[in-house]
Amino acid sequence: MSKIKVAELFYSIQGEGRYMGVPSVFLRTFGCNFRCAGFGMPRGELSTEAEDVSEVVHLYNKYEELPLVSTGCDSYASWHPSFKELSPMLTSDAIADRISEIIPFGDWKDEHLVITGGEPLLGWQRAYPDLLDHPKMQNLKEITFETNGTQQLTQDFKNYLTEWARWKNREITFSVSAKLPASGEAWEEAIKPEIVCDYEQVGTAYLKLVVATEEDVKDAERAVEQYRAAGFKGHIYLMPVGGVESVYNLNAKSVALAAMKRGWRYSDRLQVPLFKNEWGT
Ligand code: SF4
Repeated sequence: MSKIKVAELFYSIQGEGRYMGVPSVFLRTFGCNFRCAGFGMPRGELSTEAEDVSEVVHLYNKYEELPLVSTGCDSYASWHPSFKELSPMLTSDAIADRISEIIPFGDWKDEHLVITGGEPLLGWQRAYPDLLDHPKMQNLKEITFETNGTQQLTQDFKNYLTEWARWKNREITFSVSAKLPASGEAWEEAIKPEIVCDYEQVGTAYLKLVVATEEDVKDAERAVEQYRAAGFKGHIYLMPVGGVESVYNLNAKSVALAAMKRGWRYSDRLQVPLFKNEWGT
């Protein structure tokens, strides 16, 4: 039986992108190929908040006790090696059992599954079929992979997902948060149009670009040009930076206006005003 290293597994409202407002189960896998320490920082500077917490990791016994951060990756505990002991390896049985405990009727109704991270397509593609084929997962109809868009789908996983979607007209979505320079990651490592075009072979893909400044919006335009040139057909969303309300409030309106001006969509972060972006939301 396959196992997945699970940072978080919880039931909430999807706060971002196409399924904003939909009741959703979030499976947050452990591990990421990026660090994104540039978010919320002046250009060229990197946040040290995750590193600072890692130095006092002995103070925390549970994932949900860790402090929230206002700069860098707001999911830092889902990839930083210092926190890996807080993310257990769970069998597909254990994950499916837990899901049936946390959804309202013990079985899938209108809820959708969000497989997020970390980077969920990094190491676990071989493990998902076991989970999705589990008897307790048979009534699930919609999945979103929240990915940074740098990980190629394996041919086996593509074949599996194609079959999964075909049966009962199920829907697969790739919410691709491609990392612009504001994240602190290098363009060549982060912007991979061919990989994202490949996601469109098996489901619906859209770009969800996180921006704060005019310079970020210019980077978004440049990235969109490259994705379109490669044949990408999906929608474009702009989303304000900010895992905490004080930062998010600073730029939400200007990001909405920037999206409107370009005929792009705006994505909120409903989990910030609703739940203060606490763990498990
Ligand atoms: S890609 Fe996502 S999970 Fe990974 S470091 Fe960046 S923001 Fe965090």
